[in-house]
Amino acid sequence: MFNQAKQNNKLIIIAGPCSAESREQLQEVATALQGCPQLTLVRCGAWKPRTHPGGFEGVGEEALRWISSIKREHPNMRFAVEVAQPDHVEKALRYGIDALWIGARTAGNPFAMSELSRALSGSDLPIMVKNPPVPDVNLWMGAIERLQAVGISDIAAVHRGFVTPHAAPYRHEPLWQIPVELRRACPTLPLLCDPSHIAGQAQLVPSIAQTALNLGFEGLMVEVHPHPEQALTDACQQLTPANFLTMLSQLTRRTQPVPNSEEMQLLREHIRLTDSQLLHLLADRFDTARHIATLKQRSKSSLYQPEQWQTKLSQCMAEARELGLDESFVKNLYEMIHMESIRVQEAQLDTPTHSAQ
Ligand code: PEP
Ligand code: MN
Repeated sequence: MFNQAKQNNKLIIIAGPCSAESREQLQEVATALQGCPQLTLVRCGAWKPRTHPGGFEGVGEEALRWISSIKREHPNMRFAVEVAQPDHVEKALRYGIDALWIGARTAGNPFAMSELSRALSGSDLPIMVKNPPVPDVNLWMGAIERLQAVGISDIAAVHRGFVTPHAAPYRHEPLWQIPVELRRACPTLPLLCDPSHIAGQAQLVPSIAQTALNLGFEGLMVEVHPHPEQALTDACQQLTPANFLTMLSQLTRRTQPVPNSEEMQLLREHIRLTDSQLLHLLADRFDTARHIATLKQRSKSSLYQPEQWQTKLSQCMAEARELGLDESFVKNLYEMIHMESIRVQEAQLDTPTHSAQ
């Protein structure tokens, strides 16, 4: 399913409620989405992993019964549910569910992933793997490798954002560099985006979906509920079917190769020269830092001078503002440069000529 769509350059679209709540609710979603030509799968959670106990934890096997009966009315519609334990897999297989996904909390747990992989081995169901909540591409890749190790080959990765202290205005920080890193490491792996769990609020969903398509993601998994305000889980982030279909019609996909025009070549050469200048400037900056380290050594001063660093950072931020550069980008960049400067100064003091002093 996922591999074939990627090969055929067909966008993968998955939509449906966060949780299956009643047969009527699923029926209503299926009816609203049945005319959508791009629809690959309807999603709905049967077992819901909740942060606190006591909330709505899904209707379990009952949801699979509803799906089977709705599939008889909509024979072309395919459904996906989340599995977190081997008995979920066994039930999903028994009810003929078409695809499964592994949620963020489960994907981050290597023991759970091994158990699920064992339960899935021998089945040829398409499986989606959400990114674990911690921003660590290796943990995400490890979850996928555990499935591949038991022979599962129709796998898609789903980017749903990360738990960080500075996610606002989103529910989960997108940290786009992590799925981009996954893409670099596994270029043939289909990559989907779940803008709903990144956004946490319906009005932010379309712009996140568009960013994913701009970055070359192969598809989207979107939470769609016939009456979002009545949803038992994730009420704020679910789109109505009408809003979902409008969003789909407004998204633009960029799949054409970049033209290799003369103008493009000139611009790329300009970038190459600028990058080379940046590297030379950095090398020069760290040479100066090494020189400063020897002076600090002579005067027995600490390598880390917080006041000097604060003054420097404020100057850089003021200049960045004047140049129209993004302030948080410049702050992150300077934090990194400063850490490296301290490391370079320490290494300088460790060299034999200095450590003997
Ligand atoms: C979900 O898709 O409903 C869900 C629980 O997602 P996640 O595992 O990304 O939190
Ligand atoms: Mn949800």
